[in-house]
Amino acid sequence: MAYRVTLIPGDGIGPEVTEATRRVIDATGVPIDWEVQEAGSDVMEKYGTPLPEQVIDSIRRNKVALKGPITTPIGTGFRSVNVALRKALDFYANLRPAKYYEGVRSKYPGTDLVIVRENTEDLYAGLEFEEGKPETAELIKTLDDLSGVKLRPDSGISIKPISVTGTERIVRFAFEYARANKRRKVSGVTKANIMKFTDGLFMHVAKKVADQYPDIEYQEVLVDNMAMQLVQKPEEYDVLVLPNLYGDILSDLAAGLVGGLGVAPGANIGTEGALFEPVHGSAPKYTGQNKTNPTATLLSGIMMLRHLGEQAAADRAENALAAVIKENKFVTYDLKPDRTGGVGTSEMADAIIERM
Ligand code: NAD
Repeated sequence: MAYRVTLIPGDGIGPEVTEATRRVIDATGVPIDWEVQEAGSDVMEKYGTPLPEQVIDSIRRNKVALKGPITTPIGTGFRSVNVALRKALDFYANLRPAKYYEGVRSKYPGTDLVIVRENTEDLYAGLEFEEGKPETAELIKTLDDLSGVKLRPDSGISIKPISVTGTERIVRFAFEYARANKRRKVSGVTKANIMKFTDGLFMHVAKKVADQYPDIEYQEVLVDNMAMQLVQKPEEYDVLVLPNLYGDILSDLAAGLVGGLGVAPGANIGTEGALFEPVHGSAPKYTGQNKTNPTATLLSGIMMLRHLGEQAAADRAENALAAVIKENKFVTYDLKPDRTGGVGTSEMADAIIERM
């Protein structure tokens, strides 16, 4: 029976990179019934929102989605579709592999990291108090009463909640991922020496979870140290699990180690399903030019195949992609040594399909 997968082409370059990905995935022979759903700036006029309810319903029903990037409209009052989706479907884990492929310009050949970022808590919880507002003044007074710390009256405040429940499930996710993917080590990354009741809690809970996985090495690393370690010797690290903000920053750093946005895939995984998407945005200036790199979206699609249990098909597609990148002939401009020339998005997909 065919898998039913929600496909959100998105806007900007989204439709081009998702179409290339869909063709490669279909060529693996895995039967997928794609349920195409529109979202993004192009549908705002039609539905009055960039994220129509039927898109969320479709992902809830199918439990698996592949998504192209979506532009976040500025100044319209709409929040990011990506953040809204994350919230609506409780995608608590953001998984971002950073793997080197021969032929990609990188100073760190051999790098193979997986960043597991907590996606719902921390400074992204949306608890923000604007400078000068009466509720902010009230909060400043309450904090003074409770802690004796006098904040400047012209402060803005963002709250950083980290819970035992949220930490437990993300760290467990990281260990389960490590086990399922034959990874050797998990590193928990925080600033626990300074923020004892949030990052300290994360570390404490992480250690307890780690104790339940004696087959996988576990270590604690402070985030500033980890930033340095990653640019000095990334080969010493494997799976990293981090609270939201550090995960955001270090996953971009890790993407930079292996060639940047064009090759960085991602997945959002939660209690209601999983959504696979490239890390990059909609690159509006390249819309409709058949120019941008489909690799990040295709690698996200390959992660989706693995999530579905289709390991052999995923390997076939990944090997074909790796061969095309290594040969460096039928690749998009950004994978060329001088960033000029190259073939189009769909021609790169053709070359990958030919090698499968
Ligand atoms: P972007 O990732 O869209 O583009 C930045 C630059 O990176 C591009 O100009 C291009 O040079 C390069 N690039 C990106 N993707 C590439 C690819 N596949 N191949 C080759 N080069 C590529 O970032 P931005 O310009 O900051 O954001 C544009 C829009 O995308 C914004 O509205 C932003 O909110 C949105 N966005 C969406 C998502 C998402 O849907 N998950 C993620 C990030 C940004």
